Amino acid sequence: MSKQRLEGKVAIITGAASGIGEATARIFAAHGALVVIADIQDELGASVVASIGPDKCKYKRCDVRSEKEVEKLVGFAIKAYGRLDIMFSNAGISEKLTSTILDVDFDVLDNVIAVNVRGVAATIKHAGRAMVASGTRGSIICTASIAATRAGHGAAVYTASKHAVVGLVRSAAAELGRHGIRANCVSPGGVSTPIVQKLTEMSQSQAEEFSEGMMVLKGGGPLKASDIGEAALFLASDESAFVTGQNLIVDGGVTAVGAIPP
Ligand code: NAD
Repeated sequence: MSKQRLEGKVAIITGAASGIGEATARIFAAHGALVVIADIQDELGASVVASIGPDKCKYKRCDVRSEKEVEKLVGFAIKAYGRLDIMFSNAGISEKLTSTILDVDFDVLDNVIAVNVRGVAATIKHAGRAMVASGTRGSIICTASIAATRAGHGAAVYTASKHAVVGLVRSAAAELGRHGIRANCVSPGGVSTPIVQKLTEMSQSQAEEFSEGMMVLKGGGPLKASDIGEAALFLASDESAFVTGQNLIVDGGVTAVGAIPP
């Protein structure tokens, strides 16, 4: 198998200035893809481009809550690189993980739904339209979560938003399959990224220890952003040519078996 699993392909990754999106951008570029890094953190986005190499990627500011900006993002990728094969719709946010259903703050709810549901729907819509128009057998991948399969305590709004991501992806798979376009989710377990450190108020090492402790699989260390990126690579590549409408859970066994207390 060639190392260059995405040779000749063009990818957009939202939320790629940090965490899982950034790790995935590095992996996609290392496998030959040209990548558009989309985010609202301009300085971080520019530094990711500088470290991957401006010959392999470009940064485009895009707030996924705005359908207009998402449409422009897709246009930017096609203008810059001539085509669009992969949309990794990964940008996401959460309310505080200690917030319960009894304390739902509806301003927070509106914002989480705007990023996690409206943003994902907009990326699927505009990437899908571009792929259909050009006859590209593309791959759309959306980041859901283990919170898309089960509820925990806290973060009811995030949980609802991630269930919605799976619904959007299944619908996209159903409706776009006739055009040869695939749509799948990747669902991470706990990965120590800035979003998690901020929401749990844990340090990087505390979050890693927690992530490792809750997994069924032991001895491999904590789940890393690049582990999710490798799953996204599989879904983006032709190796998953007949995989569509699926939710690939990368959680060290937590969803199947239940969390092991650390
Ligand atoms: P992160 O905070 O490191 O990265 C998220 C990125 O999304 C940030 O760069 C942020 O600026 C960007 N973003 C936020 N709002 C945006 C908007 N409106 N428009 C464009 N970009 C925006 O967090 P992460 O852990 O890498 O999260 C990536 C995805 O993984 C999210 O969808 C998250 O819900 C999901 N997820 C993460 C975990 C985990 O444990 N880290 C677990 C399950 C799912």
